[in-house]
Amino acid sequence: MGASSLREEEYELKDGDRMKPITGQTQTNPSESSTHTAGARIVLMGPPGAGKGSISERLADKFGMVHLSSGDILRAERSSGSELGETLKKYMDAGELVPDEIVIKIIIKSISSLDSSKGLLLDGFPRTVIQAKQLDDALAKAGLPIQAVLLLDAPEEVLLKRITGRRICPKCGRVYHIETMPPAKDNICDTCGTKLIHRDDDTEQVVRERINLYHKETEPVIEYYRKSGVKIIEVNADATIDEVVERAIEGIRQANLLEKEGRTSL
Ligand code: AMP
Repeated sequence: MGASSLREEEYELKDGDRMKPITGQTQTNPSESSTHTAGARIVLMGPPGAGKGSISERLADKFGMVHLSSGDILRAERSSGSELGETLKKYMDAGELVPDEIVIKIIIKSISSLDSSKGLLLDGFPRTVIQAKQLDDALAKAGLPIQAVLLLDAPEEVLLKRITGRRICPKCGRVYHIETMPPAKDNICDTCGTKLIHRDDDTEQVVRERINLYHKETEPVIEYYRKSGVKIIEVNADATIDEVVERAIEGIRQANLLEKEGRTSL
């Protein structure tokens, strides 16, 4: 089915389970507690440069889901100047994975503090089978298992070109590309006028290292979820962001994670 026949606006993510906050958060509007807002829990996976950040922001925006990027959370900690931040910097600048025991603690704590009743989109976590198992344990306790993996992929040369040309505004987070999406004024953010940065882990050598790590450590996570019966939605990400978003929405629809607006999930 062509994406054009899908009237996206009419749909929102659904969840067959009873939705409740992951931790003991209270509902902001008690009157809604018996008519739970639709929600779904999806892990976004893919090698560096597949577009996980941009695509998850667009999907989260569209469906009102909470978007949690482990990279963003770790970068924020890193730039806080804390001791932990210094430790993170070492791994991140080298393109290595932050050790499981550190990252699991930070990310599961962040997930626990969120109200994910409208859905949860995890971007960049889990990246190892150990992380996936720990996440499963935490979510199982709350009765909120992962329902699908959205798997983005593109040829390695495309990934490399995308990442090495990427420039980011350190203030507002807007992402540019020197060839495909340059700012109006050289190296200056169109939105807030801040000088753009080239992430230390976006150089070719580090990106190759990150892609290798993805094959070695993260691809087994896809197999782990497949074996657990989680739906794997594969999306060819060698296209424009708009096209990839359309493909992702269509994949989510085919995985039966959408329902018409207005219906409750019960
Ligand atoms: P990202 O922005 O997702 O590409 O992440 C940037 C960097 O943060 C990675 O190269 C890792 O060093 C670190 N990182 C992010 N998420 C994880 C994770 N789930 N496990 C280990 N390291 C991570």
